[in-house]
Parts: sequence; structure tokens; C-alpha cells
Amino acid sequence: MITKGNFSLLESSEFKGWLDKQTITRKIDKLQVHHTAAPNYSTRQMINGVAKQDVWKCLEGMRTYHLSQGWSGTGQNITVLEDGRIAISLDRDLNKTPAGIKGANTGALCIEIIGNFDQGGDTMAADQKQSVVHLYACLALKLNIPIDTSHIVYHAWYTASGAWLGDYEKGKSSKTCPGTNFFGDGNTRSAAERGLIPSIKKELKRIKEGDGDLMGLEEKKQIEKLKAIVKSQGEAIQALQKRVNINGDQLPPTAYHNALEAAKAVGAITTTKDKDQSGLKTIQMLNNIGIFEPSFIEYLKSFKRKV
Ligand SMILES: [Zn+2]
Repeated sequence: MITKGNFSLLESSEFKGWLDKQTITRKIDKLQVHHTAAPNYSTRQMINGVAKQDVWKCLEGMRTYHLSQGWSGTGQNITVLEDGRIAISLDRDLNKTPAGIKGANTGALCIEIIGNFDQGGDTMAADQKQSVVHLYACLALKLNIPIDTSHIVYHAWYTASGAWLGDYEKGKSSKTCPGTNFFGDGNTRSAAERGLIPSIKKELKRIKEGDGDLMGLEEKKQIEKLKAIVKSQGEAIQALQKRVNINGDQLPPTAYHNALEAAKAVGAITTTKDKDQSGLKTIQMLNNIGIFEPSFIEYLKSFKRKV
């Protein structure tokens, strides 16, 4: 994440982690969908999918325009760049009501997608598309918002005064936003139900299962690691026990006495009588790192039971 001026810029992959840490203090039950119309892929000076225009210039430019309209800050809470990066408006944090759809902003979050997605305009780049889908899935999860066209709403489904039309109706809708070719299909409710909505649902499923899988995988790895430790230590202790028992008559040098006592106390060896120097050294070494600590043995035993 990079913060500069009035925005924080995140990679799409950073968004969920960032969002998880946010505390939401207002009720949000609607996620608005907008395209910026301008800036768009032309003003961003796209060459082979890469924007030549400075990203901060683009973001600050929007804010300056919004301020010139008498708004208190950037209109939207979140902006999705053409390359999929996500900008957070610092002067319109998630807890601030946005200026997205006149008369219909209370309880809403405003997301602006950079581009002009009207017919004949820009074709949304794959990275941006993916980021848009991921962003709405993360927001739906965090804010517990149902993924449907009553809660993820296009600007075009409202009149200019903010009355709910529930669909794009030419002549009645305030705007075509997010574009008559948005998501490669259109700005109608049925287009959303065909394209964006199922994509978000699929992404949410992937996020949930992905997290689960990752945790499962980590746990499995951890278990395998500990299993190996238990096995190798068990073997080492058995080998030591054998060696210690071979010449069990003689008293060990006093230097090894404490280690042997500790090992015997937890049942790792059965006698403290030994004269095998390498065996004694190994026992002392194991003792030095705390292998014969009763708490460690208990830990190993409890783990073995779990496995
Ligand atoms: Zn709009």
C-alpha cells in the first residue's frame, strides 16, 4: 500500500487484508457500481494496457473536480484503476456517506471504476474486471451484504432525484452509469444478473474455500513436521537407551550425571549407568536443549494423541 496526497493505493491482492482491519461504524447495506466516464482509458493514455498518465494525477484530478462541485471531498469511497489497483479516498473513508447517487447515498458505499463503459467506449481490461469482482466479494463478506441486484446497485437504476427504478430505463434513469456495455454486456438489471452478480458469488466462494484450504494445508504441514520430530526423537532416544544399557554397570562420569538423571526421570532411559562416551554426550546435548523437560515430553505426548 502506498499513501500519497488524498489517497491510498493498494494492489488488488492487498485489499482483503486491508479491509479486514477496518472498523465500520455506520450501517452499510448497498454497494453502488459506477464508471467514471472521465477519466477513462483515453485520458489515462493507455498504451498496450499500461497507463502513461501518473496515477496520482488521475486520482487527485477527480478529487479536485469534485471539490469544485462544492463537495466536501472525493465523491467515491473507493476507485478501481484500469490495471486493477484499488484507491481508497482518505477524505471519504468507508464510514463517510459518499456522494455517488444523488438522494440515495445513505447506507451506501460508492465505488467508481475508471473507464467509459458505454457502447463504443472502453472494453474493461481483464485485470480490472477481476479486481472489480474481487472487491465486491470482499465488501459483501466484510459488510454481510447479500450478493444480489437489490444490494449491489448500478447508478442507472435510479432517477436523477435518487428514486429507485430497479433497472435502466432510458429517459427515466439519471445516467447510463456504469455504462451501456458495462462488463461486456450492459447496464440493465438482467445484465448484472447474468454477469457481475454470479461472478461476485463465485469469487466469494473462492475466497471462503481458498482461506479454508490454505489453513487446512498449513495445519497438515505443521502436523507432518511435528510427526517427523516425534518420530526422530523417539528413534534417537531409543538408540541412546540401547547404548546406555549395553554397559549399564559402570557409574558415568559425574559431568553427565544431571543429564542422565533428567533423561531417566522422564523415562527416556532406564539406567544412569553407562560408559559409552558418545551416548553420554548425546544425552547431555539433548538435555542442554531441554528435550527431557517434563513439560516438553508432555507436549509431545499430547501431540501424539492428537495425531
Ligand atoms: Zn455513476
